[in-house]
Amino acid sequence: MSLRVTRLLPGAFLPLLLAACGPGLTPITGPVPVPPPRGAVTVAPTESRTPSVEASMTEGDYLRARTLMVPVAGVAPTRLTDSFSAARSGGRTHNALDILAPRGTPVLAADDGRVFKVGENRLGGLTVYLLDAAERFLYYYAHLDGYRDGLRDGMPVAQGDVLGYVGTTGNAPANTPHLHFQAMRYRPDRYWDGQPVNPKPYLVVPGRAAMSTNATASDQSHP
Ligand SMILES: [Zn+2]
Repeated sequence: MSLRVTRLLPGAFLPLLLAACGPGLTPITGPVPVPPPRGAVTVAPTESRTPSVEASMTEGDYLRARTLMVPVAGVAPTRLTDSFSAARSGGRTHNALDILAPRGTPVLAADDGRVFKVGENRLGGLTVYLLDAAERFLYYYAHLDGYRDGLRDGMPVAQGDVLGYVGTTGNAPANTPHLHFQAMRYRPDRYWDGQPVNPKPYLVVPGRAAMSTNATASDQSHP
């Protein structure tokens, strides 16, 4: 089965495609080889997540097997709109999903893995990169209003863990809080520049914050 990915424009420079409602044009400080600390968060292994099997899967089969969670609390898969192929200024393509939610809504880990990079850039505002457990996909979260307390590079996370809160930092319209969420193949040499893949078909679990850690997920309870 082939996976639908956005065809790159001839001569297009990938970082430009990723600008404006996309990852920053330039990485903040370059790749961060942070070894994941042990014991901070329990990541429960599940069946069907055997790395050797995953390695031979197509992108679509792999993402389908991950049963990804909608990365915003309270948002069901059926509420997502597909803005992956939407045009953006300068002839660019969005290559991401915008998930609208009230400011302050918890933003969640779509999959198990670790925090790859916490950082801020002009277009994305407050951002987080999450690397999945098999180091196959990197998830980019932008326009956050703020971060979960203690969020740091290398921190292990489980699906549903709170990473931060929906906001409008960066170039998001001030009256349209949303999460800009992008899935891309992890590219170790240029992590911000991996091939984007439309995550919408694979976001099958409704967004629901995990309550196990000391994340401030209780923010959900008061609108
Ligand atoms: Zn966006």
